[in-house]
Amino acid sequence: MSINLPSHVFAGSPLTSKSSNPGNPFSPTAGLETIKASLSDNKQSACSSNFKVLLFNCGRPLASSISVSVDSPPVWNLGWISLDDLIRLLESTGVQLSGDQFVYLGSRADDNVVYWAIDVSAERSLVPLLRSKQFCFVELRTLMVATDWADLQAMGNLAIAGHARALLEWHNLSRFCGHCGEKTLPIDAGRRKQCSNESCKKKIYPRVDPVVIMLVIDRENDRALLSKQSRFIPRMWSCLAGFIEPGESLEEAVRRETWEETGIEVGEVAYHSSQPWPVGPSSMPYQLMIGFFACAKSLEINVDKKELEDAKWHSRENV
Ligand SMILES: [Zn+2]
Repeated sequence: MSINLPSHVFAGSPLTSKSSNPGNPFSPTAGLETIKASLSDNKQSACSSNFKVLLFNCGRPLASSISVSVDSPPVWNLGWISLDDLIRLLESTGVQLSGDQFVYLGSRADDNVVYWAIDVSAERSLVPLLRSKQFCFVELRTLMVATDWADLQAMGNLAIAGHARALLEWHNLSRFCGHCGEKTLPIDAGRRKQCSNESCKKKIYPRVDPVVIMLVIDRENDRALLSKQSRFIPRMWSCLAGFIEPGESLEEAVRRETWEETGIEVGEVAYHSSQPWPVGPSSMPYQLMIGFFACAKSLEINVDKKELEDAKWHSRENV
């Protein structure tokens, strides 16, 4: 039952991490030192022109749009700013950023550009200035819908933005150590954190929240079970999905969630594919969607109205 699809949205980032060898000026730690030196001197260095930064405001990446023709909708691009331009921007506004606010994203295989992200939600004065330069902060979900999914370069950029948002939101939600309650500090160019308490020093790693998402199938009648939530727009139906509980396998989570939400019993469960999902609720911005086909063993639907507005069998034609 496997299907070969190209990468899903938010997967397939073209960035990889450069060697951590301290001699490599484009490594995460050497790169961060360059940023810190550039910020403290307010001047450019040999490498800083190779650094590009993506700014985020309340989970939204900076973007710009261009009109290709009067007949077609505008094309969105991520608003990458070179470190040199960012420093000039900071000078003109008096905003001071710390090097530790930058998180390393990686480099492309074919150039020596190093990509970084930073959350500037607290720096209110930057927003009007960026707007005057034709930039604005746009919801990632809006960019996802506005992107041409056949455009591999645009999809790669979307994956980078998704990675950046997940990492920055993880920083926002892991400010304190879960073991001793002290503040955590970023290390390894923002790719890890560590507790600031000398007697604890617990290292904290970025996490993802796995979510199962399943297309429940009635094989005999060639139908699929789709559900609707009250927040959905009219005529929108979706696969069932849910979180995995401790002590549960993925297959068990698929069966339990389907049973709890719709009263349908599931037999065979087959893996389909997975994708990062950095556009979930702000309390859970770094999900990994793990997709399955699930074969129904019973057909009578009994909707849990606390979870869903409705659930119905849909024919192949209807879908
Ligand atoms: Zn601690």
